Amino acid sequence: MVVNPPAVSDRLPSPGWAAAPPEATMRPAATFPSYGFPQASSMRGEIIAIGDELTTGQRLDTNTQWLAERLTDAGVTVLYHTTVADDLRANIDVFAAAIQRADVVVATGGLGPTADDLTRDALAAAAGVPLELDEDSLVKIEQMFASRGREMPERNRLQAMVPAGARPIPNEHGTAPGVEMRVDRPDGTACTLFALPGVPAEMKPMWTDTVLPAVNALHPAPRTIRHRRLKCFGVGESQLEAMMPDLIAREREPLVGITVHKATITLRMTASGADGAECLAKIAPTEQEIRDKLGVLVFGEEDEELQDVVLRMLRERGERLATYDSASGGLLAHWLSQADVSEAFANGEVCPPAPLGADQAEKLAEHTRLAEGAEYGLVLAPAGGTQEVPSIIVAVADAERVQHNVFPNLGHPDIEHDRAAKLALNELRKRLMPGE
Ligand code: AMP
Ligand code: MG
Repeated sequence: MVVNPPAVSDRLPSPGWAAAPPEATMRPAATFPSYGFPQASSMRGEIIAIGDELTTGQRLDTNTQWLAERLTDAGVTVLYHTTVADDLRANIDVFAAAIQRADVVVATGGLGPTADDLTRDALAAAAGVPLELDEDSLVKIEQMFASRGREMPERNRLQAMVPAGARPIPNEHGTAPGVEMRVDRPDGTACTLFALPGVPAEMKPMWTDTVLPAVNALHPAPRTIRHRRLKCFGVGESQLEAMMPDLIAREREPLVGITVHKATITLRMTASGADGAECLAKIAPTEQEIRDKLGVLVFGEEDEELQDVVLRMLRERGERLATYDSASGGLLAHWLSQADVSEAFANGEVCPPAPLGADQAEKLAEHTRLAEGAEYGLVLAPAGGTQEVPSIIVAVADAERVQHNVFPNLGHPDIEHDRAAKLALNELRKRLMPGE
């Protein structure tokens, strides 16, 4: 294994982005795994979080999440998150595996001066090179201590050691410099590794100042990935997927992913391109296709929730809403009062569960509206009467009419309140839509 010259400028772009992993090329074509876009065309990434505090569960690994978002935005397909204890053998194994299977590796942790900080040693061992003293780094560390009026402890000398051929990454907010290293693979491709400190306040500026530009330089052409999210409510996840089977296919671009959280379905579209505008231009026709297929099921985009949409519609008309809720444990009023545009929310009455029949619910919706002088009255309650399964009833009243709808209680009990509140908001949203 060869370690290449250190300077970013004379480093060739890694050809690894274009090549399938050597072991994968040996598989018969028929069983080659489909990772979906954008794996096939972008650099493969791995994040390695190092520390006993992480593997024992004492501390949550927030660095990996932060780095994963940024690597993804930089056009790197993150294939692995690896977490490893402060153990030299384990660290060497992890780095050796990453060198084989990733084109870009970002590691955090284990760069301190103490005996449990092993990242430098592990990197050198995995690449098969010795550690060398970097004089510039040593001077910087000494200066850092001097500026704080302290003498540098001998142990901190270790922080100026880098694997032969590697390059230190400046750290303006701490003593430990990071390490940048390129390792060539026998098949002619290469892996570039960046080791950063675990302390988030040091790691983040080092990413921005040094690692991100270096990662961008590895791309044969600058690539960006953009996402857009559409939020849907009113059907189950599989039902929604069945409505647009071609759009959910793993190999298409833009890739459309589907996730469900507390009865709200999110469709996430992902495209890559030279810049954000190109990505969004690729996404636009797919978004239109989804909107055409799903119609009223799409209620919003990005971080919008049903209450945001409903309150915005009300504000645009200069109208207000009053609610009565005995089925969501107060969630309905809570959401409406917490939203950005809450002035359209006149009042919310919250009661313990009290079943209502259709007539009662409609009368109460009208009463709720009039009592507050609001344009809309919204009632949410357990449905009384003779349903086959426990159900909830939603009634909406305005000056012209009052209507109700009954919904069976589906889904997990944990999301019963969320779903009830969303059903109520969605009924009102449909009433507020043009043409209703
Ligand atoms: P280290 O660079 O390993 O000495 O880590 C220094 C400190 O950074 C640790 O004691 C943690 O408080 C914090 N830290 C290390 N790794 C992580 C991580 N993956 N996520 C969040 N904080 C971390
Ligand atoms: Mg540590």
